[in-house]
Amino acid sequence: MLSYQHAYHAGNFADVHKHLTLFAVADYLLRKKSAITFIDTHAGRGLYPLDRQETQRLKEYRYGIWPLWQARQRLEDSLLGAWLNQLEAAQPCTNALSHYPGSPWWLSRAIRQQDALSLFELHPGEHEQLNTQALPEQTQRIFADGLAGLAKRVPVATPRLCVLIDPSYERKQEYQEVAETAIRALAKTRHAVLLIWYPLLPSGAHQALLNSLKASGVRKLWRSELKQRAQGADQYGMYGSGMLIVNPPWGLDERLASAMAEITPLLGERSQYHSDWLVGE
Ligand code: SAM
Repeated sequence: MLSYQHAYHAGNFADVHKHLTLFAVADYLLRKKSAITFIDTHAGRGLYPLDRQETQRLKEYRYGIWPLWQARQRLEDSLLGAWLNQLEAAQPCTNALSHYPGSPWWLSRAIRQQDALSLFELHPGEHEQLNTQALPEQTQRIFADGLAGLAKRVPVATPRLCVLIDPSYERKQEYQEVAETAIRALAKTRHAVLLIWYPLLPSGAHQALLNSLKASGVRKLWRSELKQRAQGADQYGMYGSGMLIVNPPWGLDERLASAMAEITPLLGERSQYHSDWLVGE
């Protein structure tokens, strides 16, 4: 039984971290002509109007994309500028932030004629809404389990593969399932670029995922974490957003660090960014 709906959280600080990272990775990959298969294992709806009741309930975007949008004219980082220009293109009226695009939108903006995009979504309602989005013809929307779908699709027909794994982690076992699927996919496609999102929670549940990947024999594993506040044993809920990247493009770490240096002060005075290599470099 799936209960998570991303509309409650659309545009929050974790989305900013995840989608900016995804945008930067795609930007590097698109510099070479050879075709890429992009797979989004947990796609969601694709586009989130911010005035919907679900999004308005928590208004998490107010502490995520909103301050960046407001500051966009004076931001200097080129990656951030390019990303916010794309965000502007997602708005029906460019002067107002009324919609926040999800990973299918960011990926669909990246693909070229020679590329392919597969979007898995298991929630019937979310999948139905994803079906209403206008996406390029090389896009497949699949109503199925994304981890099983990824395992079945590798190796892919294109020379390169880029995968976003962005579960809701409603079940504790999902951390281990993600690690096992990633390791199985890498065994068949060693050079695949995998982006795995995880929440930073007081329980430290993500550590099992990190440990499994570190121990898997993977050659390059990079971690990027954006904390909205410091971890406190007395606090509940997600305090930060994490991304693990297997086989990150060269230079990604420095490019993101410079964008994050501009973002963190806008997200609040307790916001912090940190990245490091878990394996390699
Ligand atoms: N990737 C999206 C984005 O960045 O805009 C957000 C995805 S949201 C965090 C997780 C989504 O995964 C939810 O829409 C949920 O319904 C879906 N989901 C949960 N379990 C799944 C599974 N096993 N396979 C595919 N989708 C699943």
